[in-house]
Amino acid sequence: MTKLLVANRSEIAIRVFRAATELGIPTVAIYAHEDRLGVHRFKADEAYLIGAGKGPVAAYLDIPGIVALAKAKGVTHIHPGYGFLSENAAFARACAYAGITFVGPRPELLDMMGDKTAARALAQKLSVPVLPGTEEPVSDPAEAMKLARKIGFPLIIKAAFGGGGRGMRVVHKEEDLRARLDEAQGEAATAFGNPAVFLEKFLPRAKHIEVQVIGDRHGNVLHLHERDCSVQRRHQKVIEIAPSYGLPEQVRKELCESAVRLAKEIRYDNAGTLEYLVNADNPAEWYFIEMNPRIQVEHTVTEIVTGVDIVRSQILIAQGHTLHGPELDLPVQAEVPRIGYAVQARITTEDPANKFTPDYGKIVSYRSAAGLGIRLDGAMGDTGSVITPFYDSLLVKLTAFGPKWGIALQRMDRALKEFRIRGVKTNIPFLENVITHTDFKSGAVTTGFIDHNPGLFE
Ligand code: ADP
Repeated sequence: MTKLLVANRSEIAIRVFRAATELGIPTVAIYAHEDRLGVHRFKADEAYLIGAGKGPVAAYLDIPGIVALAKAKGVTHIHPGYGFLSENAAFARACAYAGITFVGPRPELLDMMGDKTAARALAQKLSVPVLPGTEEPVSDPAEAMKLARKIGFPLIIKAAFGGGGRGMRVVHKEEDLRARLDEAQGEAATAFGNPAVFLEKFLPRAKHIEVQVIGDRHGNVLHLHERDCSVQRRHQKVIEIAPSYGLPEQVRKELCESAVRLAKEIRYDNAGTLEYLVNADNPAEWYFIEMNPRIQVEHTVTEIVTGVDIVRSQILIAQGHTLHGPELDLPVQAEVPRIGYAVQARITTEDPANKFTPDYGKIVSYRSAAGLGIRLDGAMGDTGSVITPFYDSLLVKLTAFGPKWGIALQRMDRALKEFRIRGVKTNIPFLENVITHTDFKSGAVTTGFIDHNPGLFE
């Protein structure tokens, strides 16, 4: 008898419960004391408090506590969602040791992808282009200085074991290197418990394009086309689209082919994403930057244009099924659909007019958008839900679909206007400014778009 626990919270926990329920698998939620009103706990068949006294975030990082609870409750599978323990190889190993299947890739792949320099080395081995950069993580500032001079400026300092845009600094001239290095190492140490960084040449006018791949435990790998996640604030994604709009067909093909080659080489065995930067002024020039060995926030847009339920597939793969067997029944590569366009906006409880400061409190009125071409992934209860200061400020993911790019955008615009949220501030006015901007509509945005357009905040 299968039973699935989600070691996560909020919208992604609910997303996984839905897939499991559709497969007839009973579901188990965990929640921190501070998250006891979180809607995800009410969406599972069973829910248990974990990490009492540990704190709101530490509770979801409590490996022994979560594994012990899972064992006690007869759980057979654990899905880690994104963030928290999703890329933690020790957690995946602890699950295996307890006889529980981790719904994700093998632990050694989490180890490898957790070190961005190891991922770069893999790409280089397969002749997939990477930007000039350091071969190994560096901790010593003097060493970092030496390597920086070799790479040249502008360059970007990144936490070697980081993610989520944290621990990153762009350095334009040598005089600034020492200070930025201190900042990045400090941030990396606090956020990831490891100050190691690495340096990479900075590509100033870049598009962030990523390829969704899916592999099974038998060596089969498929790509599910690409997404464009160039609309970012502080290196964090704000709006994601599938497929990319305006990218030359040849480049799209090359990226997807290289992603499959990389994933096949390591016998990648679940859902994962390979991220690339494409030179906006010369798209034939592109570089692999990293691989994320987990489900991503923006998986929704790929699901809509391909018709593949990625989370359902993750569970079935973990159960040992093959991509093209009767349970998953995925199309062969040449026949993976790519229909229309999907655009996802991350609606957050942040105030764009006040430097995106997170807002908290009781939602006194909540009326959602709906209708043709709209998908919502959130964890909002009814009016009266409380937004706490303990977690990230994602309120709901709004995905709009259209058979044509223009129609998808019209629906997104209409849906953003349809929302009525009172009691907390949201970034909706900002998202509307982005969606209606001529550069966004024409597909001309690069990763610097938000930073270079302060008018978007008004
Ligand atoms: P994280 O794991 O924190 O998300 P990534 O390596 O995926 O870090 O980078 C996040 C974002 O930072 C990219 O999408 C891009 O906007 C920017 N970035 C990363 N590396 C470079 C680079 N070498 N040149 C220009 N921008 C970069």
